[in-house]
Amino acid sequence: MLERLWAGWRSPYIEGATAGGADVHDGACVFCRILSSGEPDEATHIIWRDPSGRAVALLNAYPYASGHVMVMPVRHAGRLAGLDAEESAAVWEGVRLAVAALEGAYRPEGINVGANLGRAAGAGVPDHLHFHALPRWAGDTNFTTAVADLRVLPEALGVSAAKLRAAWPA
Ligand SMILES: [Zn+2]
Repeated sequence: MLERLWAGWRSPYIEGATAGGADVHDGACVFCRILSSGEPDEATHIIWRDPSGRAVALLNAYPYASGHVMVMPVRHAGRLAGLDAEESAAVWEGVRLAVAALEGAYRPEGINVGANLGRAAGAGVPDHLHFHALPRWAGDTNFTTAVADLRVLPEALGVSAAKLRAAWPA
């Protein structure tokens, strides 16, 4: 079941966006495109920016569950071991705050936090490191998801973003 969840984070859209191993230099990194788009956070569903500018948290546009947050360095960096100390601290702080916001906004029974490092590990965007955090409830991997790879989300992304912004620790 858990394996299925992680596989679910590889959306067809993201797979398509990264097909051919394109990277940020030709503008194809989906995360860099979002982060440099200049679009308002309401459009990109960015819910937190590290004050130092090193990390952000945003909603997964193709979430497995409502409130599926991704935390990542702003810099196009694929290797966790390649982050410098400040980036590492900023990303981890983002993960910590995202968990707090998820707890406040959704009152889940559990939270999955993790990262897929490398395509062989299941990363859909292996060249731009990102951590996932999403709320879980007992029995939430239901028949529909497991069998049909289909899921019904109870709320729109904008609603999730607003909830998490409101619950984000000051
Ligand atoms: Zn990137």
